[in-house]
Amino acid sequence: MITWRRFGSGEPQTMGRQRMSDFSRELAVAVQAVRQAARVCMAVRAGLHQADAVSKTDQSPVTVADYASQAVVASVLRAQCPQDVLVAEESAAELRRPEAAAVRRAVVERVAGELGSQAGEKQVLTWVDCGQGGGAGGNPERFWTLDPIDGTKGFLRGDQYAVALALVVAGRPVVGVLACPHLEVTDAQGKARGVLLAAVRGQGTRELLLEGEGLEPSRAVCVSRVSQASQARLCESYESGHSDHDAAGDVARRLGLTLPPVRMDSQAKYACVALGRAELYLRFPTVATRPENIWDHAAGVIVVEEAGGQVSDLAGQGLDFSRGSGLTANRGVVASNGLLQEAVLAALRGTGD
Ligand code: AMP
Ligand code: MG
Repeated sequence: MITWRRFGSGEPQTMGRQRMSDFSRELAVAVQAVRQAARVCMAVRAGLHQADAVSKTDQSPVTVADYASQAVVASVLRAQCPQDVLVAEESAAELRRPEAAAVRRAVVERVAGELGSQAGEKQVLTWVDCGQGGGAGGNPERFWTLDPIDGTKGFLRGDQYAVALALVVAGRPVVGVLACPHLEVTDAQGKARGVLLAAVRGQGTRELLLEGEGLEPSRAVCVSRVSQASQARLCESYESGHSDHDAAGDVARRLGLTLPPVRMDSQAKYACVALGRAELYLRFPTVATRPENIWDHAAGVIVVEEAGGQVSDLAGQGLDFSRGSGLTANRGVVASNGLLQEAVLAALRGTGD
């Protein structure tokens, strides 16, 4: 196993009571799990040729990909980290209903195909339900959180989506792996599709091959150095129902942004900030009573922070992943290359948001 060398020098960092280990084993496990899950998603996606074909299929291909992705990740975690809890988006409750028999069969087929195992229906449903690991009284000290397909609407449209897995310790992500199969990258041969980012607290963010094996080759990823707000590239949700575009527009005007916002689905927005392709990602709640889901942010947050950026809520507080499946202590998200974080927060104070 290849262990990443630390970025910078000095003593290993400490976090809470837990001394920061290098988390190299967890990193390798997470990379393997996310690669396998992304492969399943890409295979399902490849079968969805046109947007109208999607609506005619009763959305079952999406359901198949969501469930199969979650089952694959859960099976890897069960085998490699059997003591760990998983808090993930899906449960198998819907899948167990008699009407879901066809979807259920397709999920089992996809999972068995990917894992190369004889995994039967009962086992696959059990894996999906592994994601209900959180308790009513908040999250354990250490747990994994997963969005098996973040940005389902983007997945359907053929736009951006992500598979996002993070290990959280003491309320903060310490390992994050983010696959964005539709994000473009420039490789040695020219342009390719598909990005895999992996971060470990205190060790930086690296880009790996989405369809590779192990942890090499990889390259360090760094946020952009743009410090003038007027030049900042802002990304936000494609869906105005997920994030208030008008509120972001107000802040953009206050900051003097000259470029129009780039709208995209999923945590691909965090990936863009980490890769230096955007300086800002803003998220404004559209429903005051709805907290953000932890799995929509955990992997993205560490990927940005370890690439040199910063992430907070709209009031400048760090995101608290300890409270259950929702970010109930926070409101909204400001992710940036770090250089622009304070300017955004100051602009927000000005708008009263
Ligand atoms: P994005 O593509 O960044 O908007 O993120 C997609 C995620 O938004 C989905 O995985 C949902 O969990 C989440 N979502 C759904 N409805 C809302 C909402 N009303 N406000 C905020 N996020 C939402
Ligand atoms: Mg999501």
